Formats: sequence, structure tokens, C-alpha cells
Amino acid sequence: MTQAKYIFVTGGVTSSLGKGIIAASLARLLQARGFRVTIQKFDPYINIDPGTLNPYEHGECYVTDDGAETDLDLGHYERFLNVPTSQANNITTGRIYFNVITKERKGEYLGKTVQVIPHITDEIKRNMLLLGQSDQYDFVITELGGTVGDIESLPFIEAVRQIKWELGPGNSLVIHLTLIPYLAAAKELKTKPTQHSVKELLEAGIQPDILVCRSDRSIPTEIRKKLALFCNVNINSVIEAVDAETIYDVPLLMRKEKLDERVLSKLKIPVKNEPDLDGWKDFLGKLKNPDEEVNIALVGKYVSLPDAYKSIAEAFVHAGAQNHCKVKVKWISSEDINATSVHDILSNLDGVLVAPGFGERGMEGKIEAIKYVRENKIPFFGICLGMQCCVIEFARHVAGLNDASSTELNPNTKYPVIDMMEEQKKITSKGGTMRLGAYTCKIKKGTKAHHVYGETTIQERHRHRYEFNNKYLEKLEEAGLKASGINPDSGLVEIVELKDHPWFIGVQYHPELKSTVMNPHPLFVKFVEAAIKYKKDLVRQ
Ligand code: GLN
Repeated sequence: MTQAKYIFVTGGVTSSLGKGIIAASLARLLQARGFRVTIQKFDPYINIDPGTLNPYEHGECYVTDDGAETDLDLGHYERFLNVPTSQANNITTGRIYFNVITKERKGEYLGKTVQVIPHITDEIKRNMLLLGQSDQYDFVITELGGTVGDIESLPFIEAVRQIKWELGPGNSLVIHLTLIPYLAAAKELKTKPTQHSVKELLEAGIQPDILVCRSDRSIPTEIRKKLALFCNVNINSVIEAVDAETIYDVPLLMRKEKLDERVLSKLKIPVKNEPDLDGWKDFLGKLKNPDEEVNIALVGKYVSLPDAYKSIAEAFVHAGAQNHCKVKVKWISSEDINATSVHDILSNLDGVLVAPGFGERGMEGKIEAIKYVRENKIPFFGICLGMQCCVIEFARHVAGLNDASSTELNPNTKYPVIDMMEEQKKITSKGGTMRLGAYTCKIKKGTKAHHVYGETTIQERHRHRYEFNNKYLEKLEEAGLKASGINPDSGLVEIVELKDHPWFIGVQYHPELKSTVMNPHPLFVKFVEAAIKYKKDLVRQ
């Protein structure tokens, strides 16, 4: 068994510096050198997972194949590495305490007093080392959520200190991501906040090996020297991370700064070849030199925080590049849409995506938007709640089931075309209880979905409680809605589409979670293609 090397990424000065992107970029560079890499995130909050958090609190909840509800940074890891993550890649304080308390209740601590040190820190260490012991990875990069100095991240920092000491030099290292602000009045880049945050780490017993410095401009040598001197690092371990045009530039910027080489040399691994980044550069080339441009609406409830739909936004970036097309996403609040406003809001767009969501707020606006795009033959893509809304819209306005609804919107509806599954009705607890993770779907030959995927068996990830109600399947199919994808085990409808519409597809699952730079999701690729065609046809008319 090869010993995996552990790389820890801590954050200093402020949150939102982009630890996830730096971790993912480094991982991408190491992967491009032929190494097997995974990234995990340890979050200091007490929720067992982010599944119960409002998207406004923490952005999108990302779901893995094994059904874990996780931090959105795992989405970046998958998009950059094209390798799936799992429950083991995201651990919170809540989960650590839950495990420790469960063990305590079982009597596993043999009468000992259970304490933060060593019991909580041991449980953190056990989890931090787990993926590296699977013999599947050469590197495990661990991103620590929060900022150094936060009370709640102390046990994680202590666990990193212990691991670093136990593994000895050459087996682990700490990268500290920090901010070098520019003070306009003084016309100077300031190193003091970084000095303080490194001091904080030193107090906790950790000497960072590499500093990655976020800044809005290039960091000159004299500032690098100062940082090196006051933070005890080599000058070539002071890496600048200037604001980038797109997050997908960051691996190349880190390559230019030789972050990967610094990491390898500190971990005593010979630097043999250049990383193979051809595919990545090809993607960036297409991304930055589009031949076309389309405007696509994202109709949702949480549009004032784009992080709430992170994976959808990124899937559009991948699909746009694939089509040599710039996709301009217009974020539209479903609460603004009604029968009078819909034309003004949607008529100039080349495609409309109705987003996932929970609760009845804004749902009627989504249904109104779908009616408009169905009637006006504008390309439509519905995801999860978006698919449920298109079934409701079709039932109401085409199949003649007046006032059809989802029981999520109206529990007393006469025609519950979307309803909670029987198994779900018994569940009272909220965390981790939805239909979660990857399920198989069989696609009917000759359908639009078949054309999109080019295959008849697919696996996609789910996160919902409500489903298409099969009681209405026949009636809706007779009226022209095609159930083109079915779960072979449960018979649940996973994909619906319309025949006499250029591009109208709703999916019960979340395709956006599987779109990566190297593997853009076919549904997004074909949807963007349809939007380009729609725009061109309009011009020709
Ligand atoms: N609220 C819907 C459900 O629970 C849809 C969920 C979603 O869009 N992720 O089924």
C-alpha cells in the first residue's frame, strides 16, 4: 500500500477567499501529472450536514452518488477533477459529535470521561485519514471550512497539528490561503492581516508550509519577501492568487506560480513531467472565444443568491463552451411572474430553465412561465420542482384537469398529479430523509431524451420528496405528455417531454450535479444547442 500524502488548506483573514477553488485547482494540477487525488471538506458547523440549511444560509446543497447532502464545494471538486465524491468527502462538527456521542452511548469509551481532546480530535483525525487509507489516492487534500481563529474550528486545527506531527515531514503539508488587501489611500498592499492570521496558526502549533495570497493585483517581490520573513516560509512558497476572470483560470494561474511544484518538492516527490492540461486549455479556449451568445432565464425562488444554483450556473458554463457559445443566464424570481408580466419578462429569451426548489412560494409563477414557453415554443428545461411544475401546467391547461397541483402546493387538490410517495409519508424527520443520490433510469428509444443521452440506461442523482403520480400517467400521455424516462425498479417517471415542441424536457433528477469541465452534461449541451437554434430561427423569420 502506498502512503497517501495529506495536504491541508486553511483560510485566514476572512471567509469567501475561495479555498474550495484553490484546493480544486491544486488537485487538478496534481491529477494532470498522473496522480490520484481526492478532496474533502471539513465544516465547523453543528448541522450533521447542510441538507437542512436554507440555500440563503450556505448556498446550494450538493448531492453525491451515494446520497450524501453536502457542501457546494464538493461540486467544484467534481467539476474540476471529473471524479465522483461521496459522504466521506464532507464531514461537519455535527457529524463528529454525533459519532462520538453514539459511541459513548454504546459504552465504547469504557467508563472514561469523553472530552474534546482526545475524543473529538481523534474522531476528526480518523475521518481526515480515512480516504487516504483506501489505497485509492496518492493525495488527499483537506479543505478546512471557516477561518483560522474561529472558536469552532479549533478542534480541526488541533487535529491537523497532530496529524502533521504524527506523519512526520514529507508526508503532509499546510497551505494557508490568505488575503493581501490593497489600500487605495496608502497605495499599498498590506501584509499585516496575513501576519496576524499566520501568528494565530502558529499559536495553535501549525507552521504553514505555503502561503497562497489572494489579491486584486500582482504581489511584488518586496511584499513577497516581507511575507516570507514574517511568516517563516520560503519566498518561493509565497504564491499569489490574483482575482481571475473565471474560476476555471485558477489551475493555470496556480501552475504559473508553480504551486504544484512547491507542493511536490515539499512532499519529497520528484517533479518529472509537465502536467497535461491540454483538455483544460481547450475548454478555456472555447469558453473565452465564443461564436454565439444566448440569453437563458433561470426561473427560481432563491435568485438573489446565485450560489443557491451553483451547479446549474456551472453546467451552463460547460455546455456553453462545448457549443462555442456564451450563455448569459438571466436570474428571474418566480414570484415576479404572473399572467400579465410573463410576456415582458420572457419574450426576449432564447430558453427558459425552471429551477429546483421547495415549498409553495413562487410555484404559481413557475407554472405561468411554463405555460408561456410551451405555447410560444421557447426551449424549456425543468429540473426537479421545475419538472413537477411542467406536469402540473400540462395537466391544468392541456389535459383538462382544472386546478391540478402538487400536494406540496395544495394538499387538498382534486388532481394531485404530483404527490408524496407512500414511503415518504411515514417520515417525520427532515435531515437525510428525501429520495437522495443516484438512481437508474431507463430511457425510451426514439424519444428526445434518448436523442440527448444517446443511450437507454442512465444514472442520475435525486433530492426530492414528491413524485409524478402514476395514477395520472395514462391521462397525461393521452393528452400528449410523454414519460420518456422511467425508474425500472419503482416505475416512477423520471423524464417527461413534449412531442410537438422543439425542446421541452423536464427531469425529476438533478443533471447539473454531474456536469464537469471534461464531461459537460448532455441535457445542458443540447438545451443550449436548442436555444442557439431558436435564436437563429427567430432572426430568419
Ligand atoms: N420540492 C420538491 C420535492 O420535494 C422538489 C425538490 C427539488 O426541486 N429538489 O419533491
